[in-house]
Amino acid sequence: MGKIVYGIDVGGTSIKFGLFNSEGVRLITKFEKDTPKTNQQTSVLESIFNTIQETNQMYGYSELDIEGIGLAVPCPVKDGIVNSCANIKWERMNIRKELADKFSNQVHVVVSNDANIAAYGENASLEIPFRNAIVITLGTGVGSGIILNGEILEGSTGMGGEIGHTHVYDGPIETCGCGAKGCLEQMCASKGMTNYALELSKEMSTSINLNQITIKDIFEAAKLGDKLCLKVVDRAAEYLGKAASVVALTIDPDAFIIGGGISKAGQYFLDKIKNAYQKYARFSTGNKPFLLAKTGNDAGIIGAAHYAIKK
Ligand SMILES: [Zn+2]
Repeated sequence: MGKIVYGIDVGGTSIKFGLFNSEGVRLITKFEKDTPKTNQQTSVLESIFNTIQETNQMYGYSELDIEGIGLAVPCPVKDGIVNSCANIKWERMNIRKELADKFSNQVHVVVSNDANIAAYGENASLEIPFRNAIVITLGTGVGSGIILNGEILEGSTGMGGEIGHTHVYDGPIETCGCGAKGCLEQMCASKGMTNYALELSKEMSTSINLNQITIKDIFEAAKLGDKLCLKVVDRAAEYLGKAASVVALTIDPDAFIIGGGISKAGQYFLDKIKNAYQKYARFSTGNKPFLLAKTGNDAGIIGAAHYAIKK
């Protein structure tokens, strides 16, 4: 029996577990558990430890078979340490050390921010991973992560790669979850797109149902030539391309990888983002490939598993 690796994606409501063969990061099983609600400072890691022990037993593995455990957590992480977390009551915790210390043998544990881990996983899942990649995940928010020289860019406080809150818009708009106004996320995530569609509908007609707007409807109608939806899609692509061009001048990546629910619009949307990007890009950054992500909902556990083996 070969070695195994755990990829674990910790969220405020549930914790996703993935057990993988470390050879090729092939999934053996995956499942979800509720995140403990009380005494989170100790209970969350205890629950993770106990679940690993139970899963090992169920599948006939021991601690010695574990090549690594990767943890994706919903907050900034620097060197395995979390200072505070919006979704889980963690205060100044060395997550990496505390989890590793629960095992009687030296088990290798890595921890990073969930968006960064997902970015790492998207890149690592490619046939030939890039050394430098910028991964942007579009859904209810704009998540992102930067892989620089094969490593997750954590920065000095764990905030590295947070492109979603780049300021891109100066017009009137509500306050973003981060406290600022005019963030990329407000223009390109699902809520920003549906809000814009509603706003435009005051002056334009559209074929979509305005009482129940979905992102899927917007893209489908845009593809069929609905002028309102086309405007919504084009605006999102414009801001994404612009923000990407700014980051490109700093990072000079090998490629961009676009994922998340909105990216289901596929090559159509990707081409629009790339076109916008090329308008703003300068010097040698103009000619970068844009790829669609492929790991989908399992990006967190897959990324955590890849990261655990790599480090
Ligand atoms: Zn923001």
